[in-house]
Amino acid sequence: MTAAHCTTCPYCGVGCGVAVEKSSDGAVAVSGDVAHPANQGRLCVKGSALGETLDLTGRLLQPQVDGRTVGWDEALDQVALRFSRVIEQYGPQAVAFYASGQLLTEDYYVANKLMKGFIGAANIDTNSRLCMASAVVGYKRAFGGDAVPCCYEDIEQADLVILTGSNTAWAHPVVYQRLVKARRERPQMRVVVIDPRETATCDIADLHLPLRPGSDAALFTGALRWLAQHDGLDNAFLHRHANGVEETLAAVADWAPERVADFCGLPLKDVLAFFNLLKTSRDWVTLYSMGINQSSSGADKCNAIINLHLAGGRIGRPGSGPFSITGQPNAMGGREVGGLANQLAAHMGFSDEDIDRVQRFWQSPGIARQPGLNAVELFQAMAAGQVKAVWIMGTNPAVSLPDADAVRQALKQCPLVVVSEVMAVTDTAELAHIRLPALAWGEKEGSVTNSERCISRQRAFLPPPGEARADWWILSQVAQRMGYGAAFGYRHPSEIFSEHAALSGFENNGTRAFDISLLAPWDRERWLHMTPVQWPVNARHPGGCRRLFGDGRFFHADGKAQLLPVTPRLPQNAVSPRYPLVLNTGRIRDQWHTMTRTGKAARLMRHLSEPFCEMHPQDAAELGIVDNALVRLSSPHGWMLARAQCHPGQRRGSVFAPMHWNGQFTAQGRVDSLIPPVVDAHSGQPESKHAPVRVSLW
Ligand code: SF4
Repeated sequence: MTAAHCTTCPYCGVGCGVAVEKSSDGAVAVSGDVAHPANQGRLCVKGSALGETLDLTGRLLQPQVDGRTVGWDEALDQVALRFSRVIEQYGPQAVAFYASGQLLTEDYYVANKLMKGFIGAANIDTNSRLCMASAVVGYKRAFGGDAVPCCYEDIEQADLVILTGSNTAWAHPVVYQRLVKARRERPQMRVVVIDPRETATCDIADLHLPLRPGSDAALFTGALRWLAQHDGLDNAFLHRHANGVEETLAAVADWAPERVADFCGLPLKDVLAFFNLLKTSRDWVTLYSMGINQSSSGADKCNAIINLHLAGGRIGRPGSGPFSITGQPNAMGGREVGGLANQLAAHMGFSDEDIDRVQRFWQSPGIARQPGLNAVELFQAMAAGQVKAVWIMGTNPAVSLPDADAVRQALKQCPLVVVSEVMAVTDTAELAHIRLPALAWGEKEGSVTNSERCISRQRAFLPPPGEARADWWILSQVAQRMGYGAAFGYRHPSEIFSEHAALSGFENNGTRAFDISLLAPWDRERWLHMTPVQWPVNARHPGGCRRLFGDGRFFHADGKAQLLPVTPRLPQNAVSPRYPLVLNTGRIRDQWHTMTRTGKAARLMRHLSEPFCEMHPQDAAELGIVDNALVRLSSPHGWMLARAQCHPGQRRGSVFAPMHWNGQFTAQGRVDSLIPPVVDAHSGQPESKHAPVRVSLW
């Protein structure tokens, strides 16, 4: 064996370190990196199976234009020429990029710079919009910056861990493993799971609250009222460090425990048990994920959680804080470079001051002056004929976006679809005019940021196969051919990271949360050997920072946090006699996204091998459905086939179906074809957890 390459897992937002050893015959052995702070040697089953997904079967290895295999020069010329023509004829708003939390930070940075700084539109959004956009809004409103306050150690040190909208055991398994171990070692720790379903995560719960789908904000709002009435607020902290306290406490006045129990469909005694745990526990962490974020009121739910932590003073100290955990390995890195259509770069927005600052830094000819189209809007604008050219990078929106059949139709009629991909055939790549072969995990070099703000390197240990190239290189080459040469003359990803780090500190007087300026400049050698570090990395935190806000200073101009009055609302789409059940979508333990990689590992496919639909046995019986029957799920937007699984842990009136299956694995198993394109008004995040459906025997 050769020396281990230290890299990171390309799947979930836990961001585990991976040690890869290659033997002389090319065999690859994968294990957890004991030196990485996120996992300290652990891996889940998906990470452990990474070595089984490296074969080149099904890979896209050469550029293709209009069905012809071509060389890179022709492919890049065609992308540049066709994008330029659309811009010339219809203006910059007629083009868009749709990126991915699978991209590395350096790739993301170049894509964002090209679209916003040089093409001059902000139409670059990402599949991370589906994952954590509500959490971003929640943090920005409360803290004045998109800053996750916690680190994973806090989960181990808390007296009370609240897991809400998160099947942590399956979606973030290594965090769950850390929690299980901590609980064993600290028997005083209590765990509350708030989830309509009884999931594998409930195995560790002292209290499971199977609340009505979408009613979470009422529970946290009622908890705030109850703490206020039972001497449970940290008034000294609020006085010194927060605004909006009176208005927020006035807004919770109507949420007595009885009303909360009724609204959430929970026994009053369980609601009170939760409130009492809050009162009696010294430190709490609330870990939240898609079940909170994917909602038409997701941003408000996030602020209801943060309100509680601020009011209780449970933030900025070990074992405490509101902790949003991202789905993807580099959703956080995307946020940092401005990968969302409503951000610019380095956590800057669209104020005149920020626009001017970024333009001066980039020395760009023109720059987007207002937010662009978010993920759902982008494909709707394409369907309406307003977006005429799109470049999709490392993601499969024909499967994963809500109203997926409409997305597929929009792509079919779009005059120019460019796809950068690892796989030759995906539901989206099939619809592309130009396909560009991208490097995969193990072949590409760059950095990622995980859910605890930890920046790590992803390292190559395999040679580039065929003609596959790095995304940053492909983007830079197209930018040069569009006439923006000098600004995109990167020869190595370390140069991009160095520029990104410099921008984070450029005229940053401490009001912008993201600051890694002390990491710039980088030479290639230093970047190659970079070790994990949690941002910010600046003069105040030269070695990085485990947890934020310990000094009570937030990123709003006056240094205070903001409590926000929240009005709890139920999901926008209600059930009806025609569509009487609520469809909830989510991940399963052994698959990742649309299965283009994990679908290659036989042992991962053995866990759950076909699309399924989990139902309460009584709901199933009333519909004449037995366990393992083939059923059809229908909504006004589409339908899918699934195998019925009757499970008493499923809340009555609800069904669960996984998000993973794509058109290559099953003809009719794309659950997102059923999801209405309803989004949160503040975050643009779709309500993927609450689609009214009908279930019938096939
Ligand atoms: Fe870690 Fe997530 Fe990868 Fe599992 S999938 S090894 S928890 S990063």
